[in-house]
Amino acid sequence: MVELLNPVVRRVRDEVDESPEQFWAKQARVLDWFRTWDKVFEWNFPERYRWFVGGYTNLCYNALDRHIAAGKGGRTALIYANERGERRLYTYMQVYREVTKLAAALRGMGVEPGDRITIYMPVCPEAIFLMLAAARIGAIHVVVFAGFGAQALGGRVEASGSKLVFTADVTYRKGKNVPLKHIVDEALAGLSHVEHVVVLRRTGEDIPWTEGRDLTWEDFLAKGAEQSGDVTPVEANDPVFIMATSGTTARPKLTVHTHGGYGVWITTMAQWVFALNDQDVWWATSDIGWIVGHSYIVYAPLMLGAATIAYEGALDYPGPEAFYQLIEEFGVTGIFTAPTAVRLLMRYGAAPAHEHDLRSLTRVVCAGEPLNPPAWEWLQKKVLRDRVPVIDHWWQTETGGPVIGNPYGLAMLPIKPGSATIPLPGIHIRIVTQEGEDVPTGEKGILVIERPFPGLTSTLWGEHDRYVKDYWQRIPGRRVYFTGDAAHVDEDGYVWFSGRADEVVNIAGHRIGTIEVETALLTHPAVAEAGVTGRPDQLRGEVLAAFVVLKPGYEPSETLKQELIETVRKELGPIAVIGELSFVSMLPKTRSGKIMRRVLKAVILDKDPGDITTIEEEGSVEEARAAWQRLKAEQRGEES
Ligand code: AMP
Repeated sequence: MVELLNPVVRRVRDEVDESPEQFWAKQARVLDWFRTWDKVFEWNFPERYRWFVGGYTNLCYNALDRHIAAGKGGRTALIYANERGERRLYTYMQVYREVTKLAAALRGMGVEPGDRITIYMPVCPEAIFLMLAAARIGAIHVVVFAGFGAQALGGRVEASGSKLVFTADVTYRKGKNVPLKHIVDEALAGLSHVEHVVVLRRTGEDIPWTEGRDLTWEDFLAKGAEQSGDVTPVEANDPVFIMATSGTTARPKLTVHTHGGYGVWITTMAQWVFALNDQDVWWATSDIGWIVGHSYIVYAPLMLGAATIAYEGALDYPGPEAFYQLIEEFGVTGIFTAPTAVRLLMRYGAAPAHEHDLRSLTRVVCAGEPLNPPAWEWLQKKVLRDRVPVIDHWWQTETGGPVIGNPYGLAMLPIKPGSATIPLPGIHIRIVTQEGEDVPTGEKGILVIERPFPGLTSTLWGEHDRYVKDYWQRIPGRRVYFTGDAAHVDEDGYVWFSGRADEVVNIAGHRIGTIEVETALLTHPAVAEAGVTGRPDQLRGEVLAAFVVLKPGYEPSETLKQELIETVRKELGPIAVIGELSFVSMLPKTRSGKIMRRVLKAVILDKDPGDITTIEEEGSVEEARAAWQRLKAEQRGEES
């Protein structure tokens, strides 16, 4: 096994495995604690497990106060930038002052430890300060992506029982002011537990106002006049936030992350996988509405003393150079991005990259979906000219931070494009069948994790039974954490993801992952994006149905279609039978950019797509449906 050849990785792995509790007790010192824990780990299944039981800490204290105490208050903490060219920089001391004011204001509004507040705001300093302020007083923040509609927002406000909702008049997107307040009003209709809505006004635009319930940001701040902004020490297992999963396959689940275990995990993983440190100008291109935004725009970079960039807007607005321009402007040293962003930039080619000085960059890390080798290759070779590594790594909202990855911060392992690399030290995985049998090396199965680790959510908010059933009782006879992803492990111990477990396509007894087919399609120069699913076939059990988005300058044609089908055949062999291939202008995706294959499946089976509250563009479903029906009509025409 390759990773075992690396002495540094091996030493850390051996140390965790020898005595996980001792190891995590030592590692927990990445945080400052007000009181040391009594017990490192405790689990009486099916109850919640607990880490660092009886220990007291606070993530806001760790993100701000301790740096100031160490004399680093003058360093840059937060760089806010938006697509309109506005920039605001804050030192650690300035962030601290803003956060303590907001913490006092929250107290003035009657917010107590354990209370939930919903934040439906764009990526902006005020929203980030509010997250930290909630954490500071032991309240729980529930950030809802400001691109979601009323239904998704209302559901999360209701499920979390938030007393306060914070919003802004608008968010900036592709040159437009996108209004938010009326969405909040619609979402809150009928929710009597919400006491107040606090609105940050960024423009002079008119917004609907409910007297008595709605407060301006200034009114809210004024509530803090008589209050303290001091930190509240919280027990390690007290939640810091609730975050919904992206809902690619089902009704979103509300994960719960804690001050202790989560804090230790995301900081450690930032060191192990990203080598994140206090010299970094770090840019996670995500949104505070996602787990990546929580862990790697806000908490871990600040806890490690780095400067973190929060960017509001589209990466390709006003043009594709926006992305590269920001790297040059701030001397960005590390980037965390997602395959959807890489594929977006790839549509414009590498020329815009070469007009900018990217020499400050030392690594790019990428997660969210598999980084298809053609996309990896483009970024690694064409854009970065092999000067710095592009590192794929795998995790979930549930895990808080990386779980499988290249331990670049310990020692970089050889990159195999298309593989997320190895289970990080302390993570023990298995690849199993639905029935719980281990599958041999090299064969696809379901990825499960053998035991809890500090970052893993230990419940779902208000749905502990669903948590136990969906994650720990899913594989018969084995108490393992069910990731829901299909993967195989190669002879070097590298993990290769092939799609969600319930999306693996079975063609005449051969199991093909949807991702593998999408990657094969992406090797063709005309393809910008592809979404693949299986459809029943009398002869073979299943065949593939593909939806393809072309790059600018390419037109759909029968010849191109045949070429694409041939490309897949060449890449994956004759077993990869494409039954249908349709050209579309966009794919159904979650707002975080993940392709929703279950929606494609519903389209081809002519079924209701189910919960699509998290979808990016509803029009994409209609378009896929129309393309599919056209194709079927053509096929019928050919038959008759
Ligand atoms: P969510 O927590 O809802 O944002 O999504 C987590 C899911 O995203 C995982 O279960 C995977 O299906 C997918 N995912 C995230 N990162 C990767 C990666 N590097 N490779 C493959 N799949 C990934």
